[in-house]
Amino acid sequence: MAEFNLTLNDDQLQLKDWVHEFAKDVMRPNAEEWDDREEFPWPIVQEAAKIGLYGIDFMMNAMGDPSGLTLPVAIEELFWGDAGLGMAIMGSGLAAAGISGNGTPEQVIEWVPQCYGTADDVKLGAFCVSEPDAGSDVSSLRTRAVYDEANDEWVLNGTKAWITNGGIADVHVVVAAVDPTLKGRGQASFIVPPGTKGLSQGQKYKKHGIKASHTAEVVLDEVRVPGRCLLGGKEKLDAKLARAREAGRTGEAQPAMKTFEATRPSVGAQALGIARGAYEIALDYAKERVAFGKPIIMNQAIAFKLANMATQIDAARLLIWRAAWLGRNGGFKNGEGSMSKYYASETAVRVTEEAIQILGGYGYTREYHVERMHRDAKIHTIFEGTSEIQQLVIARAISGLRIE
Ligand SMILES: Cc1cc2nc3c(=O)[nH]c(=O)nc-3n(C[C@H](O)[C@H](O)[C@H](O)COP(=O)(O)OP(=O)(O)OC[C@H]3O[C@@H](n4cnc5c(N)ncnc54)[C@H](O)[C@@H]3O)c2cc1C
Repeated sequence: MAEFNLTLNDDQLQLKDWVHEFAKDVMRPNAEEWDDREEFPWPIVQEAAKIGLYGIDFMMNAMGDPSGLTLPVAIEELFWGDAGLGMAIMGSGLAAAGISGNGTPEQVIEWVPQCYGTADDVKLGAFCVSEPDAGSDVSSLRTRAVYDEANDEWVLNGTKAWITNGGIADVHVVVAAVDPTLKGRGQASFIVPPGTKGLSQGQKYKKHGIKASHTAEVVLDEVRVPGRCLLGGKEKLDAKLARAREAGRTGEAQPAMKTFEATRPSVGAQALGIARGAYEIALDYAKERVAFGKPIIMNQAIAFKLANMATQIDAARLLIWRAAWLGRNGGFKNGEGSMSKYYASETAVRVTEEAIQILGGYGYTREYHVERMHRDAKIHTIFEGTSEIQQLVIARAISGLRIE
């Protein structure tokens, strides 16, 4: 077990500087253009792939770090650069995590690299859980997976909503109900390989923020995938379904919503990067902008805002680092993963709003980035578990009760 330590090692410090350079030189200067275009930023992702920042090696290196801190440190820098471009670079990681979390070692080796492709031929992955009628309530998925025993194939039907990289990804990981009567425990994850017939993109959403990230519906119409595309394999699924049926008869409580706990510090780190970016702009501005004959920071009303922003940003980072470390070393006890995502995302919304206030009229225009950062921050209180769902997970963890 690695010791919990707030000092980054030399490798982590180097990585932080390296990602920061890319964020400063490539992402920040291009952020406004891609926000305006509201298109997937292929050239930026390709550039990230060329230097090794987008790709399987980068993810394996970060995932293999025993302290757990490498990933949040890198993500904070990326999202400091820009959240929309950052999400375009990190989006495939959701699919990779879905495969790593549920697949056999053979499936991980076969499919995770295909979520990234190579530096010369970049590919994307998408993780498809949410549906028009099932976002927070993931136990109510309507997408069905039916086994065709004669052909050893699974047949998928349904519509997925708000999917990052949906329809433009090469590898789609789809969560579907095998036995809907068992709710969450009757579900399984499937790989839909590149070019599979029946999978298409539905509407592409126009969004409030992170506009460079592609978000769309994914329609599954009689999609047939080979039996080997069931993540974890049929034997494991059959055993899980049998256990769930048995538990149903004995009235055993459903497990708490822990599934995403381990990836939540990374989402928190995204929000943290945005908050820090806005705070730094506001601090510099407040020292330079003169009103009533003195820099505006000389007013407590402005200086205290900045003091609060700095405090909340550091508090968020400590929660994220603790949760990232716990995710690798010893596990969560009191919903620490949720605490980090909840606090960091609410902090990002508050801090970016204060940054606009400090910049006054300039803050409300596109000149200083903070207007875009405020729009980008908001998604973090919604996706990967809304703030209310994080509170629910924490409340259940600390009470041991099934709070509704
Ligand atoms: C830009 C973007 C990208 C996304 N990317 C992906 C992706 O790649 N893959 C994917 O699968 N999904 C993705 N999502 C979907 C996202 O995870 C869901 O939107 C989110 O989980 C919320 O679900 P919902 O929209 O159905 O809201 P709802 O669940 O309908 O919630 C609406 C409101 O009710 C509250 N609420 C619901 N239940 C409770 C409760 N029990 N107690 C208290 N309050 C409650 C919520 O907190 C929220 O405020 C993405 C969404 C967006 C906008």
